[in-house]
Parts: sequence; C-alpha cells; structure tokens
Amino acid sequence: MSFNRLLSVKLNDGNFMPILGFGTSAARKVAMSNVEEAVQVATDVGYRHIDSAYSYLNEEAIRQAIRKKIANGTVKRKDIFYTTKVLCMGTSSHTELVQRGLEMSPKKLQLSYMDLYLSHFPVPLQPGEELLLMDAQGKIMFDTVDLCSTWEALEKYKDAGLAKSIGVSNFNRRQLEMILNKPGLEHKPVCNQVECHPYLNQSKLLEYCKSKDVVMTAYSALGSDSDKDWVKKGNPVLQEDPILNAIAEKHRRTPTQVALRYQLQRGVVVLVRSFNEKRIKENFQVSDFQLTPADMKTIDGLNKNIRYL
Ligand code: NDP
Repeated sequence: MSFNRLLSVKLNDGNFMPILGFGTSAARKVAMSNVEEAVQVATDVGYRHIDSAYSYLNEEAIRQAIRKKIANGTVKRKDIFYTTKVLCMGTSSHTELVQRGLEMSPKKLQLSYMDLYLSHFPVPLQPGEELLLMDAQGKIMFDTVDLCSTWEALEKYKDAGLAKSIGVSNFNRRQLEMILNKPGLEHKPVCNQVECHPYLNQSKLLEYCKSKDVVMTAYSALGSDSDKDWVKKGNPVLQEDPILNAIAEKHRRTPTQVALRYQLQRGVVVLVRSFNEKRIKENFQVSDFQLTPADMKTIDGLNKNIRYL
C-alpha cells in the first residue's frame, strides 16, 4: 500500500482506502474502449481508487487499463485500490465465488489480488445464464440464501489473500447487524457502499456505520444519470439545486465539486463517474477547498430522502 495518508482512510482491518474513487458503471451504454480510456485518463489525473463490479460487465476493460498503466510505469500495483463486487447468486453463491477466484488468478489478470471485494446487494438472485433472471412478468427472480453464508465465502477470499479487504453494499442497518452479530464472525465488513448525496444523506446509517468502525462509501453522489432502466424518473436534478449552486458560486467551484466535498468532510468515501476527460479532471479537484460548518449544515438541510436508484 502506498496511498497518500491524507487522502485515504484507515479501514477496520488495517488497510487504507483512498477517499475519492472513480466509478465505472453504465457499461451497457458505453463502449468498452471508452471505459478503458476513461480509467487510463483517471489514473493519469491521479485517481487511485477504481470501483467496478461483476454486473457492470466491464471488469476486463478496467483491468486492462490498470495493467497498461502499470506496464508503462504510471503506477505500481500497490498504488491502485481496485474494488469489485459479487452478486449473491442463490444456492450457487459459493460456487460462483470460487469460480471468480480462479478468474482472478495472477496469471490471467496480472493484478494479483483485489483490494476490496463487496457483496453487491443484500438480496440473493436465482442463478442462470443471464445476469438477472426474469420471470414471465419481467420481474427479477430472487432466491433464498442466508446473507451470512455469502459473507463466510467472502471471508475465505480474504483468508486466501485474493481480497485484501471485504465489505458490503446496499445494506441497511438491520442487514449490517446480521453480519456484525454473526456467531463466529472472522472479519468485519470494512465498508458499506450505498447511494448517498445531499438529497439522501443517509445520516442515521452513517452514524451507525461510524459507531461500528465501518466506512460508508457514497455512490451516485451527483444524483446519477445512470442506466435509464434503473434511475427513477421525475426526481429533481441534484446538480441544478439552487442552494448547492449558490454554495458552489461562493467558493468559485462547481456544484459537482461541492457535492463531492460534502461527503469527504463528513467522513464518507465518495465515488464519482465520468467518461469525459474535462469532467474527470474537474471531479478530482476537491481536496483544495473547504466547506464551512454553515455550508455543511445547509447541505445537510437539503435531505429529501430521494433515491435515484
Ligand atoms: P454519479 O452520481 O457519479 O453521476 C454520474 C453522472 O454524472 C454521469 O452522467 C456523468 O456524465 C455526470 N457527471 C460526472 N461528472 C460531472 C460533472 N463534473 N459535471 C456534470 N456532470 C457530471 O453516478 P453513478 O450512479 O455512476 O455512481 C458512481 C459510481 O458508483 C458508479 O459508476 C459505480 O462505480 C458506483 N455505483 C455503485 C452501486 C452499487 O450498487 N454499489 C450503484 C450505482 C453506482 P459524464 O460521463 O458525461 O461526465
């Protein structure tokens, strides 16, 4: 690990995670070459935390970009914090995890290990050829498997050195408690990655996570545009919020930078996704200004419990 200590957070297992991460979803809308290009640009700009997932169907493009940046000397493997996520696949969850472990063999990926492996959702899906198995009514087909057994499979990953750290995503307090209170728990989740932005500030979950030394990571911190199949229609556009814009103007920043800075100042690791070079750079410039306590309180007041996803 060689992350800048000022720009990273210590996890409950002793590892460090950079506080600003580069998101990579929307794979279905964007060509793989663009994903690879964006990750390379992000690495050049200075992002050291790259967030991915099995379900984004773009892991290979991302790993290819990282491998290229290692090969040309921009970074070393230890400079990159690479996150990916596994879907909880019903009764086959263990098989699925083991299979992915083989895929992660150093020879094939040349990344040697994952820095962070997350259980993507607290819901088991029925296994099948498709990513999401749908019934005749077009509804996702769920399965029944104890969340704790998926967690135990992740623990094996950490023990085997395939993942340096393990955590969860989209877990509410009750689901997190199930893991934290599991008899024989070997490793605590280091983080919980959830939707979080000024319109959904997750203050209660944040307080709980902090009390358990679990880092909260914010996704869709800009309110997302994301995949039209997933984003709810008719929600107000976060980046157009007049109060956020007024605070941005006061600091001579953009509303995007303010939305990202807001998370960092409340101790939340934040992810941001862009496939545009100018915006990738803009989003990285969030460590050189400070929101005042009054700004933070005002932004806290924007909470409307709106979920975009
Ligand atoms: P974000 O909230 O990061 O928003 C991305 C959108 O904002 C894109 O349309 C992007 O467009 C636009 N944008 C980015 N920067 C700027 C800027 N400076 N000015 C104006 N617009 C901008 O969305 P995501 O939902 O993608 O969340 C971020 C990441 O979090 C994901 O990529 C993924 O890695 C992770 N995530 C995890 C989930 C989970 O279940 N664990 C769920 C959802 C996301 P453009 O590309 O044109 O710049």
